[in-house]
Amino acid sequence: MRETELSAGRLVAPMFVSEAAASAPQGREAISTMPSVQRLSLTAVVEEARSLADLGVAAVMLFGVPGDKDAEGSGAWDDDGVVQLAVSALKAALPELVVITDVCLCEYTDHGHCGVLRADGAVDNDATLELLGQVAASHARAGADLVAPSDMMDGRVGTIRAELDADGHSDVGILAYSAKFASAFYGPFREAAGSTPAFGDRRSYQLDPANGREAVREAALDVEEGADMVMVKPALAYGDLIAAVKHRTGLPVAAYNVSGEYAMVKAAATAGYLDERQAVLEILTGLRRAGADIVISYHAADAARWLAT
Ligand SMILES: [Zn+2]
Repeated sequence: MRETELSAGRLVAPMFVSEAAASAPQGREAISTMPSVQRLSLTAVVEEARSLADLGVAAVMLFGVPGDKDAEGSGAWDDDGVVQLAVSALKAALPELVVITDVCLCEYTDHGHCGVLRADGAVDNDATLELLGQVAASHARAGADLVAPSDMMDGRVGTIRAELDADGHSDVGILAYSAKFASAFYGPFREAAGSTPAFGDRRSYQLDPANGREAVREAALDVEEGADMVMVKPALAYGDLIAAVKHRTGLPVAAYNVSGEYAMVKAAATAGYLDERQAVLEILTGLRRAGADIVISYHAADAARWLAT
C-alpha cells in the first residue's frame, strides 16, 4: 500500500570533472565542504560512472572545472573542453548511461558570474544567450543526452533549443533549471566547482526564496520555450514548488538536492546527531512524494547501495 516508491533509477549523480584532477592521486581531488565527493579526472569519471551504473543509478550530470578561465568563459564551448571530453569518454564506455551536462558559464568565467558582463558589471543577458547556445551544441556534439541550462538568463531555453536543432541535435533534450533560487545552500558547490562570484552575487538572475508564484511562472515560460523537463533547486525547503511546478507544467520534474543539503546531513551524521542512511532515504522519499520524478543528489551512490540491501 506504499504510495511513494524510491529506486536507484530515479536518482541522478552530479559529478565534477576537473582538468587539474588528472595530476592528483588516483585522479581525485577532495572537496573539504563535501566529504566523500571529489573532483575527478577523465579516467576517474568513467570509473565512478561505471560503479553508479552498476548500482542502477539512472544518470549522471556533469559539471566542468577547467584549468583556464577568461572573461567570456570560452572554455565552456571548446569541443576539447573538460566536459566535452568526459561526455565522449562516458558514451564510449557506458553507452546506456544517460549523460546530462550542466550548461552555464560561471565555472569558466574568471569573474564567476553566469554570463558575460557589461562595462557596468551587470550580466549582459542577450550576449550570454548566444554563448549558451554554443555551449549546448558543443555538449550535444560530444554525445550528451540532455543539456541542463542553469544560468537563469531570460530566453535561454528557446535559444538553446534553436541552436541544438540548427546543429542537428533535435533528439537532445533540455532539462531547464526553471525554479532556481538564490540560496545559501549552494556554498559547498562553489568550492567544488571553483565558481564563487569574484564580486557581487547572483540575486539579479536567481529567484527570491520568498517568491513561489514567480517560480511557477518561470517554469511555465521554460516549457513554452521548449524545455523537456524542469527543475526545482534547491529541494528541501521547496517541496511546495516541486508540487506546484509539476501541476502547472505537466512535465517530468527534477529536484536538485544541492551541495549544502548534502553537507548538512553529512556534518550531522559525522557528529553523531542523526542516522545518515535513514535521513537520506527519508529526504529522497519526501522529494519523490512532493512530485519529483527524478532527484539529483550527491547521495545517489549511497542511496542506491542502501536501497539494494
Ligand atoms: Zn552559473
